[in-house]
Amino acid sequence: MTETAIRVLSEEVINKIAAGEVVERPASVVKELIENSLDAKARRIEIEIKDGGQKLIEVTDDGFGMSPQDAVLAFTRHATSKITTDEDLASLLTLGFRGEALASIAAVSRVTLTTRKEEAELGTRVQVDGGTVRSIEPVGNPRGTIVQVKNIFFNVPARRKFLKSQQGEMAQISDVVGHFMLGYPEISFRFTRGNSPVAVTTGSGNLIDAIVAVYGPDTARNLLPLKCPSGLSNSGISVSGFISPPNAARKVSRFMSTLLNRRFVKSKLIGQAISKALSSFFPKGGYPVLILDLRIPGDMIDVNVHPQKTEVRFKDEHWIFGILYEIIQTSLSGLRLLP
Ligand code: ADP
Ligand code: MG
Repeated sequence: MTETAIRVLSEEVINKIAAGEVVERPASVVKELIENSLDAKARRIEIEIKDGGQKLIEVTDDGFGMSPQDAVLAFTRHATSKITTDEDLASLLTLGFRGEALASIAAVSRVTLTTRKEEAELGTRVQVDGGTVRSIEPVGNPRGTIVQVKNIFFNVPARRKFLKSQQGEMAQISDVVGHFMLGYPEISFRFTRGNSPVAVTTGSGNLIDAIVAVYGPDTARNLLPLKCPSGLSNSGISVSGFISPPNAARKVSRFMSTLLNRRFVKSKLIGQAISKALSSFFPKGGYPVLILDLRIPGDMIDVNVHPQKTEVRFKDEHWIFGILYEIIQTSLSGLRLLP
């Protein structure tokens, strides 16, 4: 007779547990859905939010869409069209690669996915409720994909309790959308709340246009372009972006964003390098508006450290610290140093 106390968990339970790591709050859903639209080569992305994302998060794109089979497979954990082997991780050209976002989101909400590929006559609509597929049907819809996420955490009361007020969640969503607007000025974003526009970008490809849309014309007018330190010209590294001068310092660091290979990253190392460089120009407690767009060869970093893909590890931390420090120093030098 066998006596086992250990069980392998069902897919539904596994997805719900894993969802906790990918989907912390409505803003994480917004981030994952926009990443998917960008990976689908969308040129226009619309984001509609109701009640701080707790009632509705809807992301519509004009990307390449999915076949009926893929529309269902997309909700399976570790199902992805973006990588095949672990070697692909070193030369990643997409924002997604873990194949967990849609499975995780659908595990903790009610999702309707509507999608059509250019060449298909009909599209597909899939409804998934708390991880269970409810319906799959053919529909007529334009090329591209619409993902509607309703009643987030309806089946995870513990998570629901930790959500902030609607305004609090909306502020976090606005930060996420703002980041993508700044990081992808060639994409036309339309961000609405309860169907009224919050921010709209034209997709002109000009970063300054995106900055005007996100931070307003007054902020945009004062910015200085970031300069690439001369030693970097042959290193395969490129730098672009803007920084505000010390006389327009802000009291919060929220307006500083670092994009690494077109991905917004949170990194202690990056933060430390930048604050060290800033400390000779900015007063204590003063921060710039900063948009730093850094591209470095993919084999020098590892983004596969955390399910939310905002953390990054560097092969050579010392080297990257020096580069970041120098970028800020070079860009601000010529301005008067603090006494
Ligand atoms: P990942 O992005 O890591 O592959 P996701 O769970 O976010 O994992 O998505 C699973 C798959 O569904 C993707 O690999 C992609 O093939 C497909 N997909 C998701 N969203 C879209 C979209 N907006 N347009 C086209 N395909 C999509
Ligand atoms: Mg994804």
